[in-house]
Amino acid sequence: MTLDETHDPARRSWVASANGHADFPIQNLPLGVFSTENGPTARGGVAIGDQVLDLAAARRADVFTGDAEEAATLAAEAPLNAFLAAGAGLRRALRAQLSSLLTEGASARVALEPCLVDRAACTMHVPATIGDYTDFYAGIHHAVNVGRQFRPDQPLLPNYKHVPIGYHGRGSSIVVSGTPVRRPQGQRKVPTDDVPTFGPSRRLDYELELGIWIGPGNELGEPIAIGDARAHIAGLCLLNDWSARDLQAWEYQPLGPFLAKNFATSISPWIVTPEALAPFRIAQPPRPAGDPAPLPYLTDAHDQAEGAFELELEVLLHTPCLKAANLPPHRLSIGSTRHLFWTIGQLVTHHASNGCNLRPGDLLGTGTISAPTPDGFGSLLEISAGGTAPVTLASGHTRTFLDDGDEVIFRARGRRDGAASIGFGEVRGTVNAAG
Ligand code: MN
Repeated sequence: MTLDETHDPARRSWVASANGHADFPIQNLPLGVFSTENGPTARGGVAIGDQVLDLAAARRADVFTGDAEEAATLAAEAPLNAFLAAGAGLRRALRAQLSSLLTEGASARVALEPCLVDRAACTMHVPATIGDYTDFYAGIHHAVNVGRQFRPDQPLLPNYKHVPIGYHGRGSSIVVSGTPVRRPQGQRKVPTDDVPTFGPSRRLDYELELGIWIGPGNELGEPIAIGDARAHIAGLCLLNDWSARDLQAWEYQPLGPFLAKNFATSISPWIVTPEALAPFRIAQPPRPAGDPAPLPYLTDAHDQAEGAFELELEVLLHTPCLKAANLPPHRLSIGSTRHLFWTIGQLVTHHASNGCNLRPGDLLGTGTISAPTPDGFGSLLEISAGGTAPVTLASGHTRTFLDDGDEVIFRARGRRDGAASIGFGEVRGTVNAAG
């Protein structure tokens, strides 16, 4: 893990709002695609404090040189697929130059200040064209909690600790934070029903996940060695894998998730780069004694030594009643990414291990990330114990699953002594009534 002057916690920016910013201090510099009312064309930008640096405008201001100029040209262009495909070399060059250009005292301030846009005035977009989306199941506590509801005697199926479980999702319904989510309709059949009925889901849930943006891809037929997996990851985001549990329970056998999942998936708009996340890398937590070791194609000393992350994950629920009473959102959980059973490198390598080609802008979901204890559970299915233990809100109302009008908010933050704290921003979505 390479830390350099871009991570220096003492580094301050001439963009005053960046200094001490919870999500976007100068040590973060995530990339995204935005538009404004005056400049409706979607284009690439970098979040800095409560501002967005318009990369196309900064290019025209002629502040970049060398590889960073090439990278800025790619990153100014929406969607960001070409920038993602360019890989770590150009990405690092851009980060290094942006960091020095935005540092307090930099002479580029004069040229760059007019290139800043108020982040509050920006409409954010899905940052890249997502060719394919795959969702994994790497949160082991989630797998145990959900498995226990269906199979009390054998919560984890025998394959879980050997093979990263996943399914192919759908890219077309991935939406950016803030996009309303319409409650899906589908076939529902509880055990006491003789036959299924069709109608709005009665058990609408969220799933707290990280999204993994694929950078450079691999050729069809060419696996990605575990030691090379990192080179194929362009960054991370927050991901809400909205899930209709009643539809899921009826439809999932024998082929797995389908319409219970693909009606919407929400992501946070900013791609937080591996470079920005370097201070928050940790060793993959050791497996309990007696667990099988990963097979050799998933084992790499470097990946095990620093392939995991320590990021705090927070889930908030805001309801119409809380809003009407001027009450703050209800915190449903605080968890950590350290509870992933597989590293993101292992997910990438496993996905390509049969020769399946990943392409720049593909998105992987980690699977729901739950902590071992209820205060860190990553879905309402777990928090409400399958709908049997309602959550009581400050307004006096209760929830087992999501009501129409409910807004779900995820946040993620890296904190560590000796490093500047950074965040992912938010992914938000409000449930609209079934249409
Ligand atoms: Mn999921």
